[in-house]
Amino acid sequence: MFKNIRILILLCILLIVAVNNFRDKNHDWQKPVYVAIYPINMDNSPEVAKYIASLSDSDFKEIETYLNAESKKYGQNASFYYRLGQEVKAMPPVVPRNGGITDAIIWSLKFRYYTYKNAHDVGVPTNLRLFLQYHSPDKKIITETSTALQNGRIGVVNLFGVSKRTANNNVVIAHESLHAFGASDKYDLSNGSPIYPHGYANPAQNPRYPQTQAELMAVHIPTSPTKFDMARDLKQTVVGEMTAVEIKWKKLD
Ligand SMILES: [Zn+2]
Repeated sequence: MFKNIRILILLCILLIVAVNNFRDKNHDWQKPVYVAIYPINMDNSPEVAKYIASLSDSDFKEIETYLNAESKKYGQNASFYYRLGQEVKAMPPVVPRNGGITDAIIWSLKFRYYTYKNAHDVGVPTNLRLFLQYHSPDKKIITETSTALQNGRIGVVNLFGVSKRTANNNVVIAHESLHAFGASDKYDLSNGSPIYPHGYANPAQNPRYPQTQAELMAVHIPTSPTKFDMARDLKQTVVGEMTAVEIKWKKLD
């Protein structure tokens, strides 16, 4: 009897998730895209606390301008709005690394519940909610994984909480935002190297190297067949054609 009830509850959850997924997958780019962002001080650092306190919507304005302009290249008229929400004190469930499918499902359910509890209203109905995990710059390296789910339109983004990284952080936020609308990574996950041709800003360039910009979903600028640099700011990136196809800015030729 108990087992049947449990199965029934599970089926109901799956049905709700499936319906939401269907609704989420069909974003109409004629409509505005409201992205709610929630800062988190990952290391309880006083320096990061100061940085978070200094943030306002205007720090993210550059992402709106960038994505809206990139959409125009593909004949779209996207209007992104990033709205800073309340700082969140509770830590999101840790994204599993190299886990199996079961770990991924359990994490995604936990993360949906976490979002439900912690993503406070930002005054507009949101299309995407991102938790910005700000790390202390003393750390030098971030080991946590950033990820955004297209299903549910939620994500966690790992950043350095210091003003000299704001421009670079905006590259990472824009990258994760497009994951939520169906864009895939365009770099080799083992070493970060951009994958030719779709991970190149200008795949037709001759000679091919050095490239001067990065494809947003590859994040790195290939300067030689084996070398690449992280894009410093959004001006050094473009949304490539394959990404535009994936997020439905462009029809496949
Ligand atoms: Zn990615």
